[in-house]
Amino acid sequence: MPFTPMHLGFGIFLFSILPFLDPIALLIGTVIIDLEPIFYLITGIGRMHGIMHSTLGVIVFFIPASVISWLCYRFLKLDKYLHKYNIYLSLISGIIGLFSHVFFDAILYPEIMFFYPFSQINGILYNIMSSRTDYLILGIMFIVGFLILGIRYYLKYAKKKKAEENLDLVRR
Ligand SMILES: [Zn+2]
Repeated sequence: MPFTPMHLGFGIFLFSILPFLDPIALLIGTVIIDLEPIFYLITGIGRMHGIMHSTLGVIVFFIPASVISWLCYRFLKLDKYLHKYNIYLSLISGIIGLFSHVFFDAILYPEIMFFYPFSQINGILYNIMSSRTDYLILGIMFIVGFLILGIRYYLKYAKKKKAEENLDLVRR
């Protein structure tokens, strides 16, 4: 918060280079931890970056991220466009997305306890780079990820079209 959507950049980029990952669980993982500040802003309970911005948050959210993905696959029939749903890859994708959120936030905010509840040390990653650089990296990953995905899908489409044309030639 307040730049939650920026975190999607990591998920888009990673999926563009590792297309066997579960993109839904990955993308949900990159943003779902910010339910904590939203909850805080609405109710005043807890903190902006409290115990969910940590390893505990990863443990709490990785199964829900995968369940939401499974529901999307099932009801939106995503198997047609993506790799088949695989529970292990889905859970791993969620975990990677979640840790990426904690990682990029930990650089921005000194109060983040990365390893909570195993350790309560604050700010281990704080300021290892400037907040501008942090956002810049996420922004670049956003754009580059989209470009790679675009190229990937274009090539797939072109290949399919060519195969259809060849088939037409054979039929004639
Ligand atoms: Zn956050």
